[in-house]
Amino acid sequence: MRNRKITYISIIILFIISLILAGIIWHGKNQELKIIFLDVGQGDATLIMQGSKQILIDGGPSGQILMEKLGRYVPFWDREIEMVIATHPDQDHIEGLLAVMKNYRVDALLETTVQSESQLYQKYEELITQKQIQKVSASVGMRIKLDQAEMEILSPSSVVPTSIVKDTNAYSILIKLVFGQESFLFAGDLPDSEERKLLQNNSNLEATILKVAHHGSKYASTNEFLEKVHPRSAIISVGKNNRFGHPTTETLDRLQANKINIFRTDEIGDILYECQKPSTVANQCQLIAN
Ligand SMILES: [Zn+2]
Repeated sequence: MRNRKITYISIIILFIISLILAGIIWHGKNQELKIIFLDVGQGDATLIMQGSKQILIDGGPSGQILMEKLGRYVPFWDREIEMVIATHPDQDHIEGLLAVMKNYRVDALLETTVQSESQLYQKYEELITQKQIQKVSASVGMRIKLDQAEMEILSPSSVVPTSIVKDTNAYSILIKLVFGQESFLFAGDLPDSEERKLLQNNSNLEATILKVAHHGSKYASTNEFLEKVHPRSAIISVGKNNRFGHPTTETLDRLQANKINIFRTDEIGDILYECQKPSTVANQCQLIAN
């Protein structure tokens, strides 16, 4: 009788292990590219994933919210984030990253060399050192490969200070991800003065989807910039009833005048794009309702 019980329990355990293994194998083969603009309130956090590889651009203003969001999209057995990109060291972009560093193994951290005077930034730097995370300084032209997608750094183009600066937005990392005919431009909190420099340098700004700079601030997303990027859709990562009045009517009007579809995290939550294999077909990245 006892032997029979042990046999039954063993079969059940084996069955559960097989299910988990099947899940891992299925997930590994499920290679479509996903780009998820996470609804983290007033801030930015974008998860890019293909198979078991993840790149996280910024971490939003709260570790708790970010952990909840990552738990929803990253399988529980995957405790590794291949790369974290901190566009600039403002609280609404790096606070959540502390929890990421504590809960995941971060292989590399791409950042600018500018420093912030905040206490949060001190803690963030200490944690990077403590966890021995490899730091990489972003420079224009740098490329990051992610299976069939490729990312390129387009800004900061000017010399970046290695000291504390008051306005870190101007040194935001601007990245473009290209996947076949589709491309995503992640504009961080880049202000209009930097947009003008990029236009003067004739930077390769064209993209099908734009992550709008600085949560829709009126001091970014100029008409000239939007004309050059010429996206079909714009994503605004913004918190409900935030104290900055983001996104501003000026920016919304400019997006509408350029006939760009607008999607906002405060209105629809997480914004998920799923991209099928690169091909010559247009719109291969589809917006999936969450
Ligand atoms: Zn911001």
